[in-house]
Amino acid sequence: MTITAVDVLDVRFPTSSGLDGSDAMNPDPDYSAAYVVLHADDGHEGHGFTFTIGRGNDICCAAIETLSEHVIGTDVTDPYDLGELYRALTHDSQIRWLGPEKGVMHLAAAGLINAAWDLVARRAGLPLWKYLSGLDPDQIVDSVDWRYLTDALTPGEALDILRAAEDGKAERVAEIEQRGYPAYTTSPGWLGYDDEKVVRLARQAVADGYTQIKLKVGADLEDDRRRFAAARAAVGPGVRIAVDANQRWDVNQAVAWVSALSEFDPWWIEEPTSPDDILGHAEIRRRLAPIKVATGEHVHNRVMFKQLLQAGSIDFLQLDAARVAGVNENLAILLLAKKFGVPVCPHAGGVGLCELVCHLSMFDYTSVSGTMDDRVIEYVDHLHEHFTAPAVIKNGRYAAPTAPGFSAEMKRESLLQFAYPHGPEWRNRA
Ligand SMILES: [Mg+2]
Repeated sequence: MTITAVDVLDVRFPTSSGLDGSDAMNPDPDYSAAYVVLHADDGHEGHGFTFTIGRGNDICCAAIETLSEHVIGTDVTDPYDLGELYRALTHDSQIRWLGPEKGVMHLAAAGLINAAWDLVARRAGLPLWKYLSGLDPDQIVDSVDWRYLTDALTPGEALDILRAAEDGKAERVAEIEQRGYPAYTTSPGWLGYDDEKVVRLARQAVADGYTQIKLKVGADLEDDRRRFAAARAAVGPGVRIAVDANQRWDVNQAVAWVSALSEFDPWWIEEPTSPDDILGHAEIRRRLAPIKVATGEHVHNRVMFKQLLQAGSIDFLQLDAARVAGVNENLAILLLAKKFGVPVCPHAGGVGLCELVCHLSMFDYTSVSGTMDDRVIEYVDHLHEHFTAPAVIKNGRYAAPTAPGFSAEMKRESLLQFAYPHGPEWRNRA
């Protein structure tokens, strides 16, 4: 199966108008996708995207166009081909200067690689999580770029992890299909919401079956204390409340601020400081224990995750489906997390990230970690209506996707309506 054409679309949703998604560093996001459609010579399509929060989405689209020369004419029949595609997209000798393996070019690679996995899984007639679960351990290992990882995890060790998980895999696949995978919700906690809305949505979350919610913090300490107290009173002591500072603080400030919230029993502090500060996260974790530290949505590649794990910087690893270069790199990250014994609790929300990451966590359960203990996938109840196979939550858990592919496809009418800047939604605002 050879890719013959690549379509790239700039799609943006005007979410800033309702303060949905507002946090201490991102007060007015317009959730956006640099959206990719791959066309194959056998008539199949692969859909994928990378996520941005508005301005700059056009830059990602331009980067995808630039990388498309590595995709057109490429054979993508099996996972080995997808490993080769990953290497072609991330190791172009001239483009590599713009990264390497970080920033806009890496986001662009994510869009293309996610679309290629969607294509391969659709052709197999399976949802991606199940397609991955059915691959041989060798095929998973072959799709990963092992460069820069082998001091922490060798391909041989990864094979051992995957082979050990063959035991009981069929039962775990059946369990995922029956019971899904645990979720938590960030919907109550956006910084732009007033106290009444936080309390109402926190109560609703518990009524809906969630055992964990998340609040945004970091703009004003007294506001955070008041909101956290109200949310804690609303949900009671038995529900986990994580807090998320979206990189707002320096190290010492993070320790002081979270200490001032400790009476309300925060489960984890997410992105307390710069996502690049591996030693800073380790210091915060040491000084705030037993409050846990989580990060990952802005961690730009597998090498950074390797170091966060080696340095003992995190209690929870929050991989993102489209921040690193797509499925291949996330397979490496799942294997690293297993080696270091750190639970993966993916970042989601935005537009389409819930749809994507649940496939990765479900594969982690069937084929890598084999456990759901202390593992939850973020869920945010926005923009799912634009997808042909939207994420489904039942009683606080993600239902297993059943449609073939990676659940990345947006409805045609949504792609037209929200096309930027000439779709009706944006034209009417101008
Ligand atoms: Mg976050």
